[in-house]
Formats: sequence, C-alpha cells, structure tokens
Amino acid sequence: MKEVLVNLAYLISASLFIFGLKNLSHPRTAVRGNMIGALGMLVAVLVTLLDRRIVDITTIIVGLTTGAVVGTVLALRVQMTAMPQLVAVFNGLGGGASALVAGTALYESLSGGGEPGFWFTASVVASGIIGAVTFFGSGVAFGKLQGIIKERPIRYSGEQVVKAVVFGLALFAGLLLIKNPDRTALYWVMILFSSVLGVLLTIAIGGADMPVVIALLNSYSGLAASATGFVLENSALIISGSLVGASGMILTNLMCKAMNRSLLNVLFGGFGEVVSTEEDIYEGKVKATSPEEVALILETARRVVIVPGYGMAVAQAQYAVRDLYNLLESRGVEVEFGIHPVAGRMPGHMNVLLAEVDIPYDKMKELEEINPTFEQTDVVIVIGANDVVNPLANTDPKSPIAGMPVLEVWKAKTVVVIKRSLSPGFAGVPNPLFAMDNTLMLFMDAKKAVQEIVNALKESS
Ligand code: NDP
Repeated sequence: MKEVLVNLAYLISASLFIFGLKNLSHPRTAVRGNMIGALGMLVAVLVTLLDRRIVDITTIIVGLTTGAVVGTVLALRVQMTAMPQLVAVFNGLGGGASALVAGTALYESLSGGGEPGFWFTASVVASGIIGAVTFFGSGVAFGKLQGIIKERPIRYSGEQVVKAVVFGLALFAGLLLIKNPDRTALYWVMILFSSVLGVLLTIAIGGADMPVVIALLNSYSGLAASATGFVLENSALIISGSLVGASGMILTNLMCKAMNRSLLNVLFGGFGEVVSTEEDIYEGKVKATSPEEVALILETARRVVIVPGYGMAVAQAQYAVRDLYNLLESRGVEVEFGIHPVAGRMPGHMNVLLAEVDIPYDKMKELEEINPTFEQTDVVIVIGANDVVNPLANTDPKSPIAGMPVLEVWKAKTVVVIKRSLSPGFAGVPNPLFAMDNTLMLFMDAKKAVQEIVNALKESS
C-alpha cells in the first residue's frame, strides 16, 4: 500500500513537472510554470524523505538549509545579465551531485556484502561519466562567461583525437568497473578522465556558441540525474532527469537552428577567425548623432522598429524604452520590437525585460516575422545590440558568427544604433552596420540616450 502511495505521489510530481514545462513555454505563463515545477519538486522531496532512510535526518536538514540559503542569496543577488553563469553553476552542481551520489551508492552496495548487478553498475558508470563531464564542463563555461578564463576557444592540432582518446579511457575504466564492481578505484579513474574530457570539450568553444553549450550542459545534468535515478531506483528522479535531459536537448537544437549551426559543428567544428579589422570597416565612415537629431527623424516616421540587445539589459533601459514606445504610439506611429532568439545573455532575455514593462506580447516579433518588414520601416532603433544585427554573419563565411540568421536592420531607411563606443559585442567581431550610409551612431548609455530622445520629442511637440 505504501509503495502504491509513494508511486502515486511521484506520478503527481512528474505531472506537475510536465505542466510546469508547458507553462514555461510562454512569457505570460512562465512564472506560473516555475511555481508548478517547484511544487512538483517539493512533493518529490517530501515523499523521498518520508519514504526512505538515505542518511539521518539531521544531515538532510543541514544540507537542505545550506542549499536553500546559498540558492536564495545567489538568485536574489545575481544580475539578470549574469544568468547564464548562474545556470552554468546549477548545471555543474547537479552533475557533480549525481556523480557523487552514484559513487556513494556503489560503496554502500558493496559494504552490504552484496554483489552489485550489471544494470546497477552500468547506471553508476553512466552517472559518473556524464556527471563529471557536466561538473567540469560547467566550471569552464562559468569561468569563460565570468571572464575568469580566456573567452576565445582554445584550439590545437589533433584535439579531436585527444578528446576521443580521453573519452575512450573513461569508457574503458567504466567497462572494467562494470566487470569488477568491487574495484572501486576504477570509479575514480573514470571520474578523472571524464573530468578532463569536460574541460577539453568546453575550452574549445567560445564566443557566440557559449549559449548552446550552456543548454547542452543543462541537458547533460538531467541525463546524469536520470542515470542516478536508476542507481537509486527512484522513479521521480528518473522522470525529472529525463525531462531536464529532453528539454535541454530541445533548447540546444532550437539554439543551433537560431544560429544556423549543427550541434557537431558547435562542439567540434570551425569557430572562425576574426578576419576583418576595425580600421578596414570603420575608417572615416561612421556618423555620430545626438538625441535631438534622432527625435527630429522620429517626428516624420510612420513605422519604427526597436531592436533591443544586451546593452539594454546592462543599462536597465527597458523603462525608458517603454516611455518611447508609448509616446510614439500615442502619435500614431506603428512601433514593433524585433527580438533575436539569442539577443542578450539568455534565451528569452529581451522578452522578459520587455514583458516586465508591459510591452504587449503581440508587438514583440521574432526574427522570421520582422525581417521581411525592414524594407517598409522608416527608422530602426538598435538599443545595445551588436552581434544580432551584424551583416558579417551573412557575408563573411570565416566570421565566428557566419551563418547565424541576423536581424537585417540595414534594409530600413534609417538605422540609429545606441551604444557607448565602437567596441564589439559578445563574439568579438567588428560590425559593418555601424559604418553604413543609412546608419547613425548615438554614442551614449542606452538608458540616458532613450530618456533624452523622449525628452527631445516631448519638447518639440
Ligand atoms: P552583444 O553582446 O553582441 O552586444 C552588446 C552591445 O551592448 C555591446 O557592443 C556594447 O557596446 C553595448 N552595451 C553594453 N552596455 C551598454 C550600455 N550601458 N548602454 C548602451 N550599450 C551598451 O549583444 P547582442 O544582444 O546583440 O547579442 C548577444 C550575444 O550574446 C550573441 O553573440 C549571443 O550569441 C551571445 N550570448 C547569448 C546568450 C543568449 O542565450 N541570449 C547567452 C550567452 C551569450 P558598448 O560597449 O560600445 O556600449
């Protein structure tokens, strides 16, 4: 009877995860989705605590309290622009925890005098390899995003062979362990090679490919948790791990599609060289403007598209952007927002910021929808975006962002780019848009610039 109740509770918690994920697919329902998912996790944790004696309750309370305090402080303090780093930390800890729990379960089963079965040890091996790759891979991803480790990819000749050999050694140690489960040293040898593999896989990736790697590591952390679920025979862990693994993989695919890259190409492939120099592109061609001049241009515009990017998030300019949107709309100007899937520093970053200031969802247009409209647009205002509006993605096959679909803002009559300097964006590439005939550069902090445009517009009316 108890078994049935526990499994029923796990089923409820798994259903809550699925409903939560469904709700997370739209900004309007995302907060509710998060709550539903958290409720599912609460049910799973409580039932697991009531059902089994894993370690004594004091240890569990100490762990729960420490985790809750650290998690809450991190979540409250983290800047939204540093969200990918936080996700990297969470992924890494998830993977590391899975590897440690699987290893502990192996020791525990041996200490009972039993002979661990094939599937048990195979699950321990899967959890250990994927968990260690995730922990160290996420550590490197965190370091890169935080600027602690060199951001550009570290490439060397024969690197694919090196990675294949390291992976082979980890797998070999794992297979030996499956054959001889009592030789626990093999577990740590396997963990060592998997850890090196995690580092090697991630140091080779950089720039605009980092978001894809974060999503992939998220998927790995789910797979590691799922394997640990098999080790512990815990169906809630198997289901929730599989959900994280599958949704992470779907997100990874969507991001690859958004950047027009294959996953293999992101992981092993040619991250290009930056060939065009800034002097070639900008020399004598960049035209600076002022908020007053931008206001004058907007006076006669009938259709305006606003393209936000990372700089809008840094400057927290979304409130000023809302004021500009309201003012233009009140004057009968048609205003839409062009949202690139990897604008900012996490998927959906711009949607969240604009939703925060009540920009209607139907005004936020995705890349495929907004690109055909630029030719009929009088003014595009690019606010702190750079890579996502870089024409080199279409024209320079050697560029690190080659092939990534971009917002073709240069097709509009006039483009106003608000940023503080000519410095490159995340991918480190110069941007020919800034030197085009129809582009005007407003070199200012995004928030101040938009506020001053709004003031100038109000004064002129
Ligand atoms: P970019 O990183 O390409 O460019 C942002 C620009 O904002 C910079 O050139 C900077 O120029 C400007 N900026 C910074 N602070 C301010 C400020 N206070 N006021 C005005 N401008 C400012 O951003 P995009 O959004 O165009 O592209 C996102 C990039 O991030 C892509 O390469 C993407 O691959 C990557 N990425 C995306 C993730 C995602 O999931 N969305 C996750 C991780 C990375 P200046 O210093 O001159 O002001």
